[in-house]
Amino acid sequence: MIQAVLSLAIIGGILGAILGISDMYLKVENDPRVDQVMGMLPNANCGGCGFPGCAGFASALVEGEVSKVGTCVVCSADKKTEIAEYLNSTPGPDGTTVKVTA
Ligand code: SF4
Repeated sequence: MIQAVLSLAIIGGILGAILGISDMYLKVENDPRVDQVMGMLPNANCGGCGFPGCAGFASALVEGEVSKVGTCVVCSADKKTEIAEYLNSTPGPDGTTVKVTA
């Protein structure tokens, strides 16, 4: 019984250490602008913009794949302007901004 508990504790410790080390070296840096834009979008996830949801549209805007916030058919005019101003003035991790229109 004690051998089984010790074996599981050792295996758990080893796997935990592997996960901890992997987290340090394999971490994926997310662009914080995607979350900011997500917070400004209506989050209806209707697909009207041609993306499967608001997260996909936010990523496309931040990555420069889409240059017009108005592609979102649900967003109000004020929010479109707010998102465009935010993206035009906020640099990403690489120091560059994307140019989008409302
Ligand atoms: S059209 Fe707007 S609300 Fe609908 S999924 Fe696209 S970004 Fe979200």
